[in-house]
Amino acid sequence: MSVSASGVCAKASRCLFAQEALLPSGWASQVLLQWDERGQLTSVQTHAEPGDAPRAKGPVLPGMPNLHSHAFQRAMAGLTEYGQATQGNFWGWRELMYRFAAAITPEQLEAIATAVYIEMLEAGFTSVCEFHYIHHDLDGRPYADDRELSLRLLRAAEKAGIGLTLLPVLYQTSDFGGRASRPDQRRFIRRTDNMLALLEALKPACDSQDARLGLAPHSLRAVPPDALQQIVSGLTSLDPTAPIHLHISEQIAEVEACMKWSGKRPLQWLLDHHAVDERWCLIHATHIDAQECRRAAASGAVVGLCPTTEANLGDGIFDAPSWRAVGGRWGIGSDSHVAVNAAEELMMLEYGQRLAAQKRNLLVGPYASSVATSMTLEAVAGGAQASGRRVAGLAVGQQADWVILDAHHPVLQDLPNAESMLSAHIFASSRQSAIDEVWVAGQARVQQGRHQDFIVTRSAFQAARGQLMETSRS
Ligand SMILES: [Zn+2]
Repeated sequence: MSVSASGVCAKASRCLFAQEALLPSGWASQVLLQWDERGQLTSVQTHAEPGDAPRAKGPVLPGMPNLHSHAFQRAMAGLTEYGQATQGNFWGWRELMYRFAAAITPEQLEAIATAVYIEMLEAGFTSVCEFHYIHHDLDGRPYADDRELSLRLLRAAEKAGIGLTLLPVLYQTSDFGGRASRPDQRRFIRRTDNMLALLEALKPACDSQDARLGLAPHSLRAVPPDALQQIVSGLTSLDPTAPIHLHISEQIAEVEACMKWSGKRPLQWLLDHHAVDERWCLIHATHIDAQECRRAAASGAVVGLCPTTEANLGDGIFDAPSWRAVGGRWGIGSDSHVAVNAAEELMMLEYGQRLAAQKRNLLVGPYASSVATSMTLEAVAGGAQASGRRVAGLAVGQQADWVILDAHHPVLQDLPNAESMLSAHIFASSRQSAIDEVWVAGQARVQQGRHQDFIVTRSAFQAARGQLMETSRS
C-alpha cells in the first residue's frame, strides 16, 4: 500500500477517510486508514487529505471485542423473567440453562451461534471470546469427531465474519472439594489429558481461519487444584501466550463455599496458587475485597465485566472505580446475551456505578474527558488483551476492525463533535442503533446497520430455538 506525498491513498479499495476517528490516543481529525490484503492496518494518518478514499458517514470507533460469550444462551432470552420460586436467583436460572445445554444439537448450536454473532456485529462487537463448555453428545459421550461442537462455533464465526477466540472449557466437578459432577453436567465433563488432546486437535482449525485458541478452566468450583495446575502448564507448552479465562467470584454463595473449603476467597486462592498475569481474564470478579483488587490489578490480568447479564442474574455490582484507581484493566462481554449490544454494556456498567455511588460520570479519565470515550478506549484495550488477538484499535499492525456511526441519525445529528456523538450512541440510542457500518479485517460486515445474512440466519435461529424449547422441557 502506497501513500503519495500529500497523504492521498493510491488504492481506494483499501482506504477509508474519517473526518473524526477514535485512536488509542484519543480523538483525531481527518484520519486516513489504510490496510493490507490480510486485513491489517498499515497506515493511520491524521490531518490527511481524503483523495479518492471513501468517506465514513460519521465518527469511526475502534471495533469492540466481546470478551465473554456463551452463544447458545441467546436462545433463553425472555424465558427466565418470571416470579416463580425456581427463578428467584442465579442457581434457579442455571437449571433452565442446563436443560438447554442438555438438549442442544450441533445443528442448533451452529444456527444459534451464527445468528448471535451477526447480532453482535450489528451492535458494534467485532470479535468474540466464546467460553465453550458443551463438548459431548446428548448422552455425554464424545462425538465421532471430538471437536464437533467447537468446529460448529468456528464455522458460525466464519459465516458471520466475526473474529473468534475459542475457549474450550475444562469442567470436572460440581463444587469445591472435588464434589462429583451432576448428571446434567455430563456434556461438559472432560479429563485433563482429554482436554489437552482436544486443544491440540483444535489448534490447526483455529490457525487456519485466524481464530485464537485459548482455554477456560470453568471456575475454581469446577476444576480441582491439581487439574488446574496441569491444564495451565499443558496449554503453556502448546502456546505460551494463549489466553486463559475463568469465572470467579460471581456470586456470594461461591465466595462462601470457597472460604469454607480453603479458608480463602476465590481470587485470593487463585493469586496464591497461580502466576496470574496478562494472559488471564477474570470473568465477573464481582465480589472481591480491597486486597484482591490491588493484587489482581497488579498482576496485569483483565477483569471481564458482563454488566447486563450480571444485572439480569442479580450478581451484584463490580466496584469499577476502585479497580480503575489501582490501574486495573477491564473489558466487556455479553455473556448470557440477555442483551447483545456493546453500547448497552457500557451504559449499564456506568449506570450501575452511578446508582451505587449516587454520583455521575465515574468511569472517566485520565486520558479522556468524556465517560463514553474513556470507557470505549479502556474496554477495547482490555478486550484485545483478553482475546489474545491484534484487535486493540485503530493503530498500525492491528486488525482493521471498526464501527462507523451515522452522523445523520436523529439522535446524533447536529451534535457539536464526535465525542458528543459517541456519548449519544452509548447513553441515548441503545434502542435505535446509530451504527451505520461495521468492518472486520478490512471488510464491511454490516452496512446501513444490517448484516447481509441477518434475515436468513434469524429464521434459522428461530427454528432452532423452537425445537430447543420443545426438547428441553423437564
Ligand atoms: Zn459465563
